[in-house]
Parts: sequence; C-alpha cells; structure tokens
Amino acid sequence: MTKAIALFSGGLDSILAVRLVQKQNIDVTCLALTSPFFDATKAKAAALQAGLQLVVKDITGEYLQMFASPRYGFGKNMNPCIDCHTLMIKVAGRMMEETGADFLITGEVLGQRPMSQNRQSINLVAKNSGYGDFTLRPLSARLLDPVKPEREGVIDRSMLEGISGRGRKDQMRLARLFGISDYPPPAGGCLLTDPIFTRRLKEMMQHEKINSPRQYELLRFGRHFRAPDGAKIIVGRNAADNDALRQLACASDLTCSMAGRPGPFVLVPAGDESSKPLAAALCARYANAPENVEAEVLCHRAGLSGIIRISPLAKEKCAQLII
Ligand code: SF4
Repeated sequence: MTKAIALFSGGLDSILAVRLVQKQNIDVTCLALTSPFFDATKAKAAALQAGLQLVVKDITGEYLQMFASPRYGFGKNMNPCIDCHTLMIKVAGRMMEETGADFLITGEVLGQRPMSQNRQSINLVAKNSGYGDFTLRPLSARLLDPVKPEREGVIDRSMLEGISGRGRKDQMRLARLFGISDYPPPAGGCLLTDPIFTRRLKEMMQHEKINSPRQYELLRFGRHFRAPDGAKIIVGRNAADNDALRQLACASDLTCSMAGRPGPFVLVPAGDESSKPLAAALCARYANAPENVEAEVLCHRAGLSGIIRISPLAKEKCAQLII
C-alpha cells in the first residue's frame, strides 16, 4: 500500500491535506514536531478527533542549532519560517526513509503566508531540504510543478486542489465535503510570532549566555524582570504560571513565596544570596502586601529555607525593571 507522512499542525489546512490524500486510498501517518516554541497540543486534539494516526517528535536540539543563525533570517518577529520549514521537511523526510513511506504531505497553501508560503520560499525549502521532489502540497498541488509521486502516478494530481491566497472559502467548501465541522482557528501556535514572547527572547539573547532549552521555556510564564546585577527574576501571574514555574525550578535556583498569605511563586534561575532582597520585594509587591509594612517572604535556595522581612518593591521600580 502507498504510504505518506504528513507534517501535521492540527489546523484545518493540515487536516484537509491528509483527507485529500487518504481519499486516494493512501495510508497517511501524521507527524507533529515540538520545540520550546511550539508544541503538539492542537495536533493531538485534532488527530484524536479525526481518528488520524499521529507521531509526535521533539526536535529541540536541531531547532535551537538552526535558530542560532537561520540562513534566511527572521520574519516580522523572530520567526525563521523558511529555515524552520526546511528543517521540518528534513525531519519528515528522514521519517519517510525510515518507515519506507513514499512521499510527504504538508498543508501549505500557496500565497497564504507572506514569508513562508510564496512560490520562491516553497522552492527554496524544496531545494534546501533535499526532499523537495517528495513533498506534495495537496491544497495547492495543481498550481505547482508536479512532484515525483504525481509524475509517477502514485497519486492522481487531478483529484488534488489548486487553492491559493489568504481566503478561506475553498477550505470551507472542502471541510463541508469531508464533513469536518469542528476545527481549531488557523492562526497561532508558534511563540516566535508572538510580540511579547519575542521581546523577552531578544532581551534574553542580549543579556544571557544561552546554554539550556529551559531558558526558552521560562520565557512563557510569569512577569519577567532584569535586576541591575543582570539576574533574571520571574514572578508568577496566576496559579497556572506558579505551577509551571515550580515545575521548571531546579536545585540551583532561588525561589520565593509569601509566608502566611497567598502570593506569587518567584523564581530566580541560578539566583544567589544577592538576588534575595529584590526577589522577595517583588514577591511582596505582586502578593499585594500592604505598603510600607514589612512582609514575611519565604526564600529557598540550595536546600535551605528562611524567612526574610521586606517591604513591597515600589511600583515605579517594578516598571523600570520589567522586561
Ligand atoms: S510560524 Fe513558527 S512554526 Fe511556523 S514556520 Fe514560522 S517559525 Fe516555524
């Protein structure tokens, strides 16, 4: 039986691309890739709902290597879309070879995204990935040069689509045809297109030596402050942030929480004694502790805990230090 590997985000376009190929009795395995900047939550939910076979693969190591110096640069924020797509196709291509699949599928639509889905970018990705002639884009196939599986008759090109542009009319028509009524919105999912995340990311790249994927993960949670001595202080905004920061904390970090009243979890990665007063004062500030009264803050570092008494940090000072 003919087999294909689909790069699968869980968005409508990727579901439709899979359905168009399955319609020709081709066995499709979906592949969702994860890194510190995108996860497989949407892909997992969509695959479950549509009854699709899904493999999830973490590509953090290779991704960060590419991200350090993307050949084609960044998009509007810090999204290296051309190099990212190239890497994704390479990873999917390796899986194709390992599993004996015949070709790859993506849900890309010609002209839908300015940086990564125009004809020039698609050709660049095809050339640089090494798997261009194996990569079928079922939604736009009839507008693109036929790839190997089309030329060899493994798949019938006339049954594929010729969609281009940013409109969604054709996708809606196909969704109705395939009986798909419940699907996630098209945008979102990649933190490298999020202006707040990328502001923090740029700041981190200027101030920190990056030697662990955890540094990227921490950017997703809490309010971030840069202390005058260069330390990063992260203050949870809500219970979800506090939980996530607790999970990401490790033995060499300084952490703070309020003693005897609710408040944020504060994390200073690799923080030492000198960070304690500022971290504790931020903890008291965001716990809404009374002004001009010393609050009790529980600090923990290297297996030792202790309470320090400190006034909440002045609001103006918070505004100066926040990233
Ligand atoms: S938006 Fe993000 S995940 Fe998508 S191609 Fe660009 S960098 Fe990669």
